[in-house]
Amino acid sequence: MRDPRGGLNAHPVGFLGVDLGVVNVAVTSDGARHCGRRVNRKREQDRKLRSKLQKKNTKPAGRRAKKYAGKEARRAKDINHKISKRIVAEAERAGRRIALEELTGIRERARLRKPQRTTLHSWPFAQLGSFIAYKAKRAGGPVVYVDPAYTSQECSKCHHTARGNRPSQAVFSCRVRGFAEHADHNASHTIAHRGWYMWVRGARSTAPERTLIA
Ligand SMILES: [Zn+2]
Repeated sequence: MRDPRGGLNAHPVGFLGVDLGVVNVAVTSDGARHCGRRVNRKREQDRKLRSKLQKKNTKPAGRRAKKYAGKEARRAKDINHKISKRIVAEAERAGRRIALEELTGIRERARLRKPQRTTLHSWPFAQLGSFIAYKAKRAGGPVVYVDPAYTSQECSKCHHTARGNRPSQAVFSCRVRGFAEHADHNASHTIAHRGWYMWVRGARSTAPERTLIA
């Protein structure tokens, strides 16, 4: 149900932080996890098949490779539409605005093994980000982009930031208070905090305009 004060976004009660990743394509600070494992496996299979066909270097093989590439792109687009729709609906239900990392951050902070790196570069993250942005704007509240620096190393409870907070790719464990959580969830909370902080700062300077809209 829409918030009677203006739905998703005119007067948000908080922020939904969304962490875009590889193992989990999108994780939100309200706990939703949009898993990409099955999708990524299929993508990896398709990629291998395509490179095999390309090596053949014949016309029919080339046509088939092209066909697979098109199919893969359509499937990814379809999934990105579904995930972005769910995320915006989730924010809308909770009366929250959406915070995303600036997309350049995803590549910078990813230290991954080789097969995952391939997936990371081929998965259309920019497309998923732009779908979320487009749908959020249409629902009344543009996405707030936050600084991606150290979101993977910062504790969302006490803000202690250290590489040692990440004993593994999946686990976040704060060295100060011992707070532990799935790394993607911790990052999504930090993204939500940063979104709220930016909104509060920006809201002050645009207060007259917002009064007019309301
Ligand atoms: Zn902590």
